Amino acid sequence: MEMGEDHVDVRESVRAICKGFPGSYWRELEDRQAYPEAFVKALTDAGYLAALIPEEYGGSGLALRVAAVILEEIHASGCSAGACHAQMYIMGTLLRHGSEEQKRKYLPELAAGRLRLQAFGVTEPTTGSDTTQLKTRAVKDGDDYVVTGQKVWTSRALYTDLMLLLARTKPVEECTRKSDGLSVFLIDIREAQGKGIDIRKLPAMINHNTTEIFFDGLRIPADSLIGEENRGFKYILDGMNAERILVAAEALGDARFFIRKATAYAGERVVFGRPIGQNQGVQFPIARAYAETRAADLMNRGAAALFDAGKDCGEEANLAKLLASEAAWHAADATMQIHGGYGYAREYDVERKWRDTRLFQIAPISTNLILSYLGEHVLGMPRSY
Ligand SMILES: Cc1cc2nc3c(=O)[nH]c(=O)nc-3n(C[C@H](O)[C@H](O)[C@H](O)COP(=O)(O)OP(=O)(O)OC[C@H]3O[C@@H](n4cnc5c(N)ncnc54)[C@H](O)[C@@H]3O)c2cc1C
Repeated sequence: MEMGEDHVDVRESVRAICKGFPGSYWRELEDRQAYPEAFVKALTDAGYLAALIPEEYGGSGLALRVAAVILEEIHASGCSAGACHAQMYIMGTLLRHGSEEQKRKYLPELAAGRLRLQAFGVTEPTTGSDTTQLKTRAVKDGDDYVVTGQKVWTSRALYTDLMLLLARTKPVEECTRKSDGLSVFLIDIREAQGKGIDIRKLPAMINHNTTEIFFDGLRIPADSLIGEENRGFKYILDGMNAERILVAAEALGDARFFIRKATAYAGERVVFGRPIGQNQGVQFPIARAYAETRAADLMNRGAAALFDAGKDCGEEANLAKLLASEAAWHAADATMQIHGGYGYAREYDVERKWRDTRLFQIAPISTNLILSYLGEHVLGMPRSY
């Protein structure tokens, strides 16, 4: 496991791209609730969104650790990978469980940037974190599946060509295990338009381009199914560790952004005749957030090293996500406080990133559910749900 600045070339190149997208770019997008097309194009053109696609399909076949470094640097630069990170978060489902035909059809197009796989529809309004109870149905009918139901918080669905959908293929009453009866589909949104899919913007506290999706008898070809029918929940679980590690990396990038901002401001801002950073009451929250960030970073590197070595990393990936999301939030809050009233001034970008980084404690999985995983699966305490 490397310490310090690993993958320096990648870091420098990502930083160079991000320089072209300063705070003003993100603020202006937020005013219009718009999608960062130019930023996503720049990352796509540089090949970074194809980082996890194997070389034989036109991608760069990089390790998960490198993908984590890419996302971390994006966030440390003050940018947000939220517009495009799904292509890394969910790529594993297609790589590990997709058929050779699906991979040959889509991966080269994704790698070349001609297609986007940016949306993942899991969450539903009435089931929330209780994923195995989701109600959207996909019923086999001849050569098609017919999809009916509703998803909520499906981010980027208006800006993607393809989406992964988790839907029920066996009624819950017929399932012997909670995790049974769900299937993953790869939906071509372009072909689905006008045939029973309605995607509506869902205005939110951050500019995350998120949506609600209504499926009203949408017919999709049977070969949209990924892997075997009714085993979809297992496929999603398989991808969770990678997702946790990537989310943690983004949170760590945010933490670095805040700590840099906070230390700079603490040194510059003079009140009562001296820099505010001379007061330990100002220094200590930043120093504490730095310590938490370093610890979370070590955990995340450990998790990625295990993942890339093909070893089990469930505990480490969950710990890393928990610690990194909290380190980022503590850094954010300290930075907000240290900026005084200017923390609220949009031009400082503190409040934007403060709002952004709060999300990591809620999505893609909330802190309580991580704690519950640790309590039950790592510490062996009784199952609570
Ligand atoms: C900006 C944004 C983008 C998102 N993007 C996507 C996306 O692209 N695709 C997608 O599928 N989803 C997405 N989500 C949804 C996100 O994954 C969920 O919001 C999250 O998993 C929590 O689910 P919920 O909102 O239904 O909360 P709930 O499940 O209703 O939980 C509410 C609170 O109760 C707590 N809680 C619930 N049960 C327990 C328990 N047994 N013990 C202790 N605490 C409990 C939770 O931890 C949480 O704090 C997004 C959400 C947001 C806000």
